[in-house]
Amino acid sequence: MSELTSYPTVREAEFYEKLSNGAVRCGLCERRCEIPKGSKGVCGTRVNINGKLYTLVYGDVSAIESRPIEIKPFFHYWPGSTALTFSTWSCNLDCVWCQNFHLSKVKPEPAKAIYYPPEKVVELAIYNGDEGLCASFQEPTLLSEWAIPLFKTGKARGVKYCCYVSNGYMTLDVLKELHAAGMDGIKIDIKGDNEVYKKYCGGADVEKIWRNAREAKKLGMHVEIVNLVVTNVNDDENTLQWVIDRHLKEVGPETPLHFTRYFPAYKFNNPPTKAETLEKAYKMAKKAGVLYPYIGNRKHFWA
Ligand code: SF4
Repeated sequence: MSELTSYPTVREAEFYEKLSNGAVRCGLCERRCEIPKGSKGVCGTRVNINGKLYTLVYGDVSAIESRPIEIKPFFHYWPGSTALTFSTWSCNLDCVWCQNFHLSKVKPEPAKAIYYPPEKVVELAIYNGDEGLCASFQEPTLLSEWAIPLFKTGKARGVKYCCYVSNGYMTLDVLKELHAAGMDGIKIDIKGDNEVYKKYCGGADVEKIWRNAREAKKLGMHVEIVNLVVTNVNDDENTLQWVIDRHLKEVGPETPLHFTRYFPAYKFNNPPTKAETLEKAYKMAKKAGVLYPYIGNRKHFWA
């Protein structure tokens, strides 16, 4: 396993603590995996080699291209611009309907990785005329050790904005370091209450996600919330109202709230979200006082 450290995409992780017996605790996301020597964390991107935690995805870019910022969706953040958008592999959640499973369900293979130095990505953005840098497609938290120098370099070279399209499950330390490095926008998914996360996403504490949304606002970041409305999972009035009420309480009426359409994918075959369900959610949000509710993803696209 120690030969792994010879690959450029394998670097010592930044967010972890050493425990007894050579085990470590990862501090990148709120799963906070305790990882014995020779083992990986739940996401498969962090490995304990001889008592040190390593990331296997430092600059291991799985997809990269210029994309309009509205596709993320960000509707109130640099409208009309494009962001150089990129991803790596895997995810720290395991949602059975994952709409980007072709990237999020693939584990990293350092021997096959193509390493992108942060400077190269910034050069590419400048060459393309992109105004921003955006980590998206799968969960960007897993790229954070690399995104931090990338965002710093980008801002120093005149890139106007840096953002994450995220499930919002990073630790607060990571959120703060990303912000300090230049991240000024975050789109956060809210999939439903804790029961939805437990039953369909491999577990997560939604309170930590709301905390991050709230803290991102406090830090002065631009925040937009997305609720993927999944047929017969979180499309009932009680769950929609819960999302709307928490949105108002945690991030306020001026924060955009997107209700996006789900399509069958990965392991889940419930039918696509009905248009009338999305319209109902929109009207409920308007009535409750959300100033900028939106309906998204009426057609199937990869964002
Ligand atoms: S990033 Fe999250 S899921 Fe992955 S090893 Fe760290 S705590 Fe576990």
